[in-house]
Amino acid sequence: MIQVFIPLNALGFVYREMKRSLADVEAMFSILDIQPRVQDKANADDLPLNADGVRFHNVSFSYHGDRPILRNVSFVVSPGKKLAIVGSSGAGKSTIARLLFRFYDVTDGSITIGDVDIREVTQHSLRSHIGVVPQDTVLFNDTILENLRYGETGASQQAIESACDHAMLGGFIAALPNGYQTKVGERGLKVSGGEKQRIAIARTLLKKPRLFIFDEATSSLDTHTEKAINESLQTIAKNHTTLVIAHRLSTIIHCDEILVLDKGEVVEQGTHTQLMAQSGRYFSMWQMQHRSNT
Ligand code: ATP
Repeated sequence: MIQVFIPLNALGFVYREMKRSLADVEAMFSILDIQPRVQDKANADDLPLNADGVRFHNVSFSYHGDRPILRNVSFVVSPGKKLAIVGSSGAGKSTIARLLFRFYDVTDGSITIGDVDIREVTQHSLRSHIGVVPQDTVLFNDTILENLRYGETGASQQAIESACDHAMLGGFIAALPNGYQTKVGERGLKVSGGEKQRIAIARTLLKKPRLFIFDEATSSLDTHTEKAINESLQTIAKNHTTLVIAHRLSTIIHCDEILVLDKGEVVEQGTHTQLMAQSGRYFSMWQMQHRSNT
């Protein structure tokens, strides 16, 4: 999972910085780094707007140089396809998302989007290209409207309402006394984990990224809402290259490919049907979840 730990005294700073200069939620991570871990190359170009498809080529990575977290991970997500990454806690799933977003550089190997090595392009253009719905979403002490659109400040009311409908937020907002103008956060309305997650989904949809990363994007939702949102996300992400990091296997059976990660290594790869037929790791995970759900 992508986790955000913000020291309390940094919140005001972060908020002001975001309001001042940031175009999207993910940039928050780079603000929180006192020393940027990765630097743009001198004269780095922007990632071409039409660059699509993701390739991890023999990627190895460790956070501190001593403990390998990913070992020789290779996969391809062709343009418009959906890849799900599953595996036990600590297997390295979110690390893959962080590397794609270039919070860190790979220790070995390479990551390309549309054949462009992500180390060759500006981080800003890379991060504008990718929309992340993280597991934990940070909301600011501001109105719902501002929380929704700060990633896309020029978004029209119509676009906002459409994104909210897809994220099943319309009813929630309509029921609030001040609708979109309702303040949320520490000094305003307290929202549940599921509502936050739906705000994060609407926010990402407004950004209209070329690639999506859903990091357990619907984990805080009840089963009914999760199912409805997943259907909606499937429609929206239909022609978009998408990485899904999932614990609940029932949410990813329709993905074009599933990668099973264990201790930083790809141990199985295939469609749901293929992996079930192998009676291996994925099959066992499926059986275990099925048993615990009954
Ligand atoms: P989960 O399903 O629990 O979210 P995950 O498969 O997404 O787990 P990662 O978050 O990618 O796992 O973490 C992989 C390993 O890397 C874990 O052992 C974790 O402790 C370690 N790790 C994650 N972030 C850091 C960090 N910033 N510094 C050092 N080690 C880290």
